[in-house]
Amino acid sequence: MQMQSGPEIISCSECKAPIQWSSLPKAKKDSYHRNGHAYCSEKCKTAFLKRLSSTTMARTNRIYASARMKTSNPMTNPEIRSKMAAALRRIGHKPKTPGGNGRGISKPQALLMEHLLKIYPKSEFVVRTGERKLNPSHYPTHYKIDIAIPAHMLAIEVDGRNHGAIRVKEQDKKKEKFLKSKGWTLLRFSNKEILEAPTMCAQEVMSTILKLTA
Ligand SMILES: [Zn+2]
Repeated sequence: MQMQSGPEIISCSECKAPIQWSSLPKAKKDSYHRNGHAYCSEKCKTAFLKRLSSTTMARTNRIYASARMKTSNPMTNPEIRSKMAAALRRIGHKPKTPGGNGRGISKPQALLMEHLLKIYPKSEFVVRTGERKLNPSHYPTHYKIDIAIPAHMLAIEVDGRNHGAIRVKEQDKKKEKFLKSKGWTLLRFSNKEILEAPTMCAQEVMSTILKLTA
């Protein structure tokens, strides 16, 4: 039997961030009852609807493409396959390391990512500063965020310093200042905090998002 009062917390259909049911205006509650979707922000709504229409497109395309590939997939030809393999060896192709840019990501970083999968975390997320290589304020051309939740402009930095004595280095301070000036919110966890209590760290992320979207 359905409860009359409705759920207390639902989640954003796009980024899965928690949404307080009571905070929704009536129109949004009604639309949630109609289609089962709610969004934490207009940005998420737009993103979700865009993705929905592109999935529908992709599905349609796939039906045609798979019929075509079955009859003419060049990789079923052993000669072409060995040529392709040789070409990949020649250019030094290697499977990508997790994290993407060759360096890989640290164990605590990966662990926290795992706990945040539902809100689409991006590791080593690049934010361009828009500065040239040599500029008077000595900014780099871009900053990398350890873990970013782009939909909410939340930057999570993971580092080795222990929490009680976080002495943020000058470089990091500059990065923080830049990101904040661009509208990012920053959270910092130490490796130790994540390794010892990943769930609690993930909860802190979620509650930060809840505050950001309130
Ligand atoms: Zn959202």
